[in-house]
Amino acid sequence: MDGQQFRDAAHSAIDDIVNYFDSVPERRVVPAVEPGYLRPLIPENPPTEPEEWAQIQKDVDDKIKPGLTHWQSPNFMAYYPASVTYPSILGEMYSATFTAPAFNWLCSPACTEMETIVMDWVAKALGLPGCFLSTSENNGGGVIQNSASDAIATIMVAARERRVREMVLAEGFKEGTAEYEDRKMDLQPRLVAIASDQTHSSAAKGALIAGTRFRSVTARLEDDMGMTGSRLREVLEKCDKDGLTPYHLTMTFGTTNTCGLDRFAEIKAVLQEKPAWQRIWVHVDAAYAGASLVADEWQYIAKEFAEGVDSFNMNLHKWLLVNFDASVLFVRNRLDLTNALDITPTYLRNPYSDMGTVIDYRNWSISLGRRFRALKIWFVIRSYGLNGLKAHIRKTIGLGNIFADLVRSRSDLFEIVTKPAFCLTVFRVKNPQASANGANGSTDGVAVCTADTVADGLSKKVYELINSRGEIFITSTVIAGIYVIRVVSANPMAEE
Ligand code: PLP
Repeated sequence: MDGQQFRDAAHSAIDDIVNYFDSVPERRVVPAVEPGYLRPLIPENPPTEPEEWAQIQKDVDDKIKPGLTHWQSPNFMAYYPASVTYPSILGEMYSATFTAPAFNWLCSPACTEMETIVMDWVAKALGLPGCFLSTSENNGGGVIQNSASDAIATIMVAARERRVREMVLAEGFKEGTAEYEDRKMDLQPRLVAIASDQTHSSAAKGALIAGTRFRSVTARLEDDMGMTGSRLREVLEKCDKDGLTPYHLTMTFGTTNTCGLDRFAEIKAVLQEKPAWQRIWVHVDAAYAGASLVADEWQYIAKEFAEGVDSFNMNLHKWLLVNFDASVLFVRNRLDLTNALDITPTYLRNPYSDMGTVIDYRNWSISLGRRFRALKIWFVIRSYGLNGLKAHIRKTIGLGNIFADLVRSRSDLFEIVTKPAFCLTVFRVKNPQASANGANGSTDGVAVCTADTVADGLSKKVYELINSRGEIFITSTVIAGIYVIRVVSANPMAEE
């Protein structure tokens, strides 16, 4: 494809993309295809001769679109949203054009410098404490990761290295020796990562990747599924009793099931109770709900992270209008990352890196090569302005409140199970035989729910019926033994 052919193809593709967005509200959200639908539609072998763009584009219409789940549909109310906007798509186009796997500053200075600047913009937009800025005295800073799961696995490896290093050095071993290495490997299996049982599975996966243990703190319905200080203390004490060393704790700001909040202040206070607990790396996973921080009224939450928090991640690609992937990770001390991940063979050396005056993001993440993702974030922030981003968050939270009120208004049929939060309403269908259980009497309309097999069965039936129609896509889950339906209204195209 030469330049002129590309120009023609791109014009046609852009028309198609705009038409797609215009038509998406009318499309069935979940495709009506069966597993394996695609293989018979695609030739068994790759083409020997070049094909025309027109034919390729036609196949997108005929073969791909029918098999898509339309995450951009206003009727997509499942999981959490994966937003995309036109400025973000433009960012992707430029990023692909400049393709430069900028692992070192020298590999493309604009990629690295733009990432550092944009991460500072994001930190400020979210009202994060100054310790997470690249200009902070404590060596803080942000880096773009592929996903929250990558961010969490990366910091768990860094946390493991930091903790085990401290322990081995305290025992008098000399870094770089075989004995030091052996002792590190002796201690590593005793390390434990801790999180609540409502924490996203990426925390358990991170512990697996870091080669350590994982223990969970049970969250309760009466605590609105948030991790409390006292329940954390029980798990920490049990670890102490078992001769294990907690090294990493995930606090969640917006759990996947119910968008619950862990009790940050209580948890941090508990961690101060013992010197060993003070050494635990504390991470805040705000993958979805962290986007709310862009609106001033939520920024009081970020103030909690000024002390006692080592790192924070959120996904701009969920609720903040930048398309996948744009997961941002902020650390209080970048040396924790680089000490763990900087392996520099001769072929990666260059005078700028050797001087130590530039950032080489390969030492802040697991992969070496990286995409120029800062561009699309820059484009989105500039195109919307902070006021546009705040308006999006406020509008969608408003829609969530309207939905929760509608559910409350039919308390004869439904009961809200956890406090509606950040566009998410978690509810179930009532057991018609069950006596009133306080749902209507409570001030916030949240029922005091207990396990009920009739309510479970009805809720599952309603959930399955809705999804089988394909007009709306929602998800369900089980919390504290209760089957619940989740409805999320954070999609940019959603309207009242
Ligand atoms: N953390 C939380 C709270 C989430 O809700 C999710 C996904 O929904 C993740 C982490 C994982 O996100 P990612 O797909 O970016 O790895």
